[in-house]
Amino acid sequence: MADTELARNSSLTVKSGIAYQKCLNPLCGAMLDIGQVRTACDRCGDLLDVDYDWSRIPVPSRLSDFEQMWSKRYEPLRFSGVWRFHELLPFAPADKVVSVGEGQTLLQQADCVGNYVGLNSGRLHLQYEGMNPSGSFKDNGMCAAFSHARLTGAKRAACASTGNTSASLAMYCSVTQMMKAIIFIGSGKISYGKLSQALEYGALTVQIAGDFDDAMIRVREVSKDLGIYLVNSINPFRLEGQKTVMFRVLEALRWEVPDWIVVPGGNLGNSSAFGKAFIELKQLGLIDRVPRLAVINAAGADTLYQLYERRNLRWNEGRPDFATVCHYYDELDARKAKADTIASAIEINRPVNLKKCLRALDFCDGVVRKVTDQEILDAKAQVGAGGIGCEPASAASVAGAKLLREEGIIAPSDRVVCVLTGHQLKDPTATVAYHSTDMDKFNEVLGSRGVSRASFANRAVAVPNELDAIIRAIQLYS
Ligand SMILES: *Cc1c(COP(=O)(O)O)cnc(C)c1O
Ligand SMILES: [Zn+2]
Repeated sequence: MADTELARNSSLTVKSGIAYQKCLNPLCGAMLDIGQVRTACDRCGDLLDVDYDWSRIPVPSRLSDFEQMWSKRYEPLRFSGVWRFHELLPFAPADKVVSVGEGQTLLQQADCVGNYVGLNSGRLHLQYEGMNPSGSFKDNGMCAAFSHARLTGAKRAACASTGNTSASLAMYCSVTQMMKAIIFIGSGKISYGKLSQALEYGALTVQIAGDFDDAMIRVREVSKDLGIYLVNSINPFRLEGQKTVMFRVLEALRWEVPDWIVVPGGNLGNSSAFGKAFIELKQLGLIDRVPRLAVINAAGADTLYQLYERRNLRWNEGRPDFATVCHYYDELDARKAKADTIASAIEINRPVNLKKCLRALDFCDGVVRKVTDQEILDAKAQVGAGGIGCEPASAASVAGAKLLREEGIIAPSDRVVCVLTGHQLKDPTATVAYHSTDMDKFNEVLGSRGVSRASFANRAVAVPNELDAIIRAIQLYS
């Protein structure tokens, strides 16, 4: 088929049966209609996947064919950095998908940060997902889950959140006025930037006395009892939208596959979605090689690291050894261990997408590392000094890339993409404390986290309110 014909035939209509939900457990394999609302398999309780009958979908024959979509930016669907790739996530018809302009993000070559990581010039790229309308990558997945919710006639949507999921859901609800947002947050562990968004956008905000893992358990119970649509990343449609982060990375690299994708790991939705994106692109013959995947935990919330690197938990063709997982969680309970890191967006000990992430690590020859809060904040300061900046959790990717470079696992000549998941302004408390001249302020916010120094602090210069003194200070410091 000629390219122009392909473009015309990509009418974005979804015929019934081309998309369905499928249980991740190969011994079960239950299939479910796309219109059903579930967060787990009815038969065996495993996670659900969105799957397609690709033979019936007019997927372009080359990834570069997607470049034509840019010429149709006047169409909201082609303006969206998610729906521009609709043919690669065709679970909903075009007239039912929701967009608020998500996915207009940037892949920036960042040599200063690359130098810090230990890479040759031109080899580090930062994928700025903080440029999304609500300020984090979550919009990529939320527009997809929200579209599915709309498809099923939902009137209310809920999530438990460390902050960005709730900000994103609240935004989609307020912009479209299609649903009421109900968000569950833990106590004291949400940054003001994120909370302020949910409150201003008008979400019903339920603050429970517990942490994120507690809030997650409750929101699943409540949404089941009340029939409220759940948009946490346990929702398989979220991950469909998040695949497009990788499509845009490839697009920015002129469809060349990088050597490494490095991403922070919290609930492991992103890493799972990225793996699924590459599995499908390979299956469709749209790429001929696959990047390696590095998932970076915070040291204070390192379940994936412990299970994958220390206890050798593997995908094992869809049958990972869940006794290992249960045993680890029992140990956490026995120690009364709670996730604890300055990177609140990844402060999660029971990642819901663990199994899907194992599939991604398997397919992308993955590695998992953990980094300390000190390493995260130093990397964050470098990202800010050499680029647009990010929130603490995002900087785990850069700290992780540096660690892997020091270990010799990443080579200086490798082409590395670090995903910066959230905007610099999401969590200013940690940033200001890091750069503070006031050691009491520094210790109050960071001391309890084991952060003892701010190697890259850019401190404000205090001067008396006198012209001579001000001029002397400027000449001394610039
Ligand atoms: C949600 C979030 C993460 C964690 O992503 P997962 O897909 O849950 O692993 C990381 N960084 C930021 C800024 C986030 O909002
Ligand atoms: Zn099942």
